[in-house]
Amino acid sequence: MSAQRPILPVADRVARKRGRAGQQQRRRRLERTDGLCEHCLAKGRTALATVVNHKVPLAQGGSDEDENTENLCGPCDQVVTAEQFGHLKAPDQGVDRAGRPTNPDHPWNRPPRSAAG
Ligand SMILES: [Zn+2]
Repeated sequence: MSAQRPILPVADRVARKRGRAGQQQRRRRLERTDGLCEHCLAKGRTALATVVNHKVPLAQGGSDEDENTENLCGPCDQVVTAEQFGHLKAPDQGVDRAGRPTNPDHPWNRPPRSAAG
């Protein structure tokens, strides 16, 4: 996990292409990997890319060049974005064999409130 970069004010960011030009740029970038997620490909998996991610986010001073982008599926994009911006990962929503949530923050796993409240 790389160190976080500061978030730039909007006025200092590289402007991303919008409208038809932005759509063509996105399509061209997705075609580089035949529309597949680069992180999944590296792990021997096949997943459809739904996001063109900036490796260094525009909000953190990254450029809008093709070399600064990668094609990602939704789950990979969530992981990468969480690393880039320091957001919490999706909460643990699993359950154990008894059906009890494994997330320690789940209400079932919190200590009971005292009667006095
Ligand atoms: Zn992926």
